[in-house]
Amino acid sequence: MKLSTAEWQKIQRECSKLKAQWYKEYPICIFCLQGVKKGAGQLCHKVPRSWVSKLFSIFELQTKKENTGLGHPICHTIYDDDKKLASVALPGFWQVMDDIKSFEPDYYNLIKSKL
Ligand SMILES: [Zn+2]
Repeated sequence: MKLSTAEWQKIQRECSKLKAQWYKEYPICIFCLQGVKKGAGQLCHKVPRSWVSKLFSIFELQTKKENTGLGHPICHTIYDDDKKLASVALPGFWQVMDDIKSFEPDYYNLIKSKL
């Protein structure tokens, strides 16, 4: 499903808000569990935008607070690119997986089957 520019902009706006909220509530990298300094973190999605969900629209999934958190760029890259490495190198990985299991079990099962 392809999103219009306006829809993407709406997602981006919501993501900026979420990022600000996380800096206030939990300024910790969800992957390595170390602190994230202001300006050094990225808003990360536990379930990526490429995933086609049966339960949520792209907008819902990308702006769902439970699907997001702060991360260091390097931790975010490891998580996105290499789940196997992430599962052994990043101490927050299984908490992220538990969170995913609670709202998007299909994605959880897919990742789990590849580890
Ligand atoms: Zn980190």
